[in-house]
Amino acid sequence: MIEDKNQGRTSLSELGEFGLINHLTQYFKIKNPATVKGVGDDAAVLEASEKQTLVTTDLLIEGVHFDLSYMPLKHLGYKAVMVNLSDVYAMNGEAEQITVSIAVSNRFTLEALEALYAGIQLACDTYKVDLVGGDTTSSNKGILISVTAIGKANKGDVVYRSGAKETDLIVVSGDLGAAYLGLQVLEREKQVFQVNPNNQPDLDQYTYLIERQLKPEARKDVPGLLKELEVKPTSMIDISDGLSSEIMHVCSQSKKGCKIYEDKIPLDPQVISTCEEFNLDSTMIALSGGEDYELLFTVSIDDFEKVKGNPNFSIIGHITAEDQGMNLVTRANQEIELKAQGWNALKEE
Ligand code: ADP
Ligand code: MG
Repeated sequence: MIEDKNQGRTSLSELGEFGLINHLTQYFKIKNPATVKGVGDDAAVLEASEKQTLVTTDLLIEGVHFDLSYMPLKHLGYKAVMVNLSDVYAMNGEAEQITVSIAVSNRFTLEALEALYAGIQLACDTYKVDLVGGDTTSSNKGILISVTAIGKANKGDVVYRSGAKETDLIVVSGDLGAAYLGLQVLEREKQVFQVNPNNQPDLDQYTYLIERQLKPEARKDVPGLLKELEVKPTSMIDISDGLSSEIMHVCSQSKKGCKIYEDKIPLDPQVISTCEEFNLDSTMIALSGGEDYELLFTVSIDDFEKVKGNPNFSIIGHITAEDQGMNLVTRANQEIELKAQGWNALKEE
């Protein structure tokens, strides 16, 4: 649908593995002093420091995690990096390096991989991380991309999922549900396109949703914002699978319960209007939609004044004793038990 029909068709076999790696990585510049050696030797060399090292990996598979009929490869590259950086920021750390491993079938051209790496490079430049290595191999079918991010945090600064305390406030950054709805809009347009390829979709009213799906931004700013506010969260997690399953991870690892207030969940106006159009419940979408890459954290109630009214944050509930369970307080003031439904579960409905 969005695929560029004018792209060149250079076969990957024309370059060979080493030529390909060199071609794809030649314009990446090292930005962090801790990166001693990046791509080009048997292993990357990183300078050790007094800080703690954070390491995280995600694997994305065509047909499972993304659909190239509406996910341009440049966006895929960008998003694959974001997904990993988000996990580093969720530890309250700073990301410094990534490695990128790809497996591609012969369906992919050099130009296609250039687009993928243009997205990776844009992410590296915007977020000040260095590409320091990876692996390149072939696959029988489709494309697979695995990114590992490496980051750092001061010893006392790392925030785990397990530290939430009773009465702590539950806070989220940004707004929720838009990425999932963006996917719904793109899926619908794909169906329309398959019936009538001449039909040019008018996506103006969904721009925010589609951007959230195709070009998510990890919340690099949040650890810094919290530092400025002199707030250290008691627990933190990134929202990749939907608010519901993330708060349940925090609660189960912290051995606590929670109350989330439906009317406090931050929603963009496009989420509200598109939910009406698709006849979906916006609370359900925020709870179970996923791929928002916002941060969910808990802070001591003593930090209420510092967090309150900050435009980046919404206080959506509080932590309770474990035996109180994990509940959503609805607008009608009814308490219902939260269920862990990631976006996959939602998709199968
Ligand atoms: P080895 O045979 O030792 O695994 P490779 O030939 O796979 O080495 O890799 C050579 C260099 O290129 C290494 O620094 C490796 O990390 C890097 N590299 C390989 N594939 C990629 C890729 N897809 N993206 C970035 N760097 C890569
Ligand atoms: Mg290798």
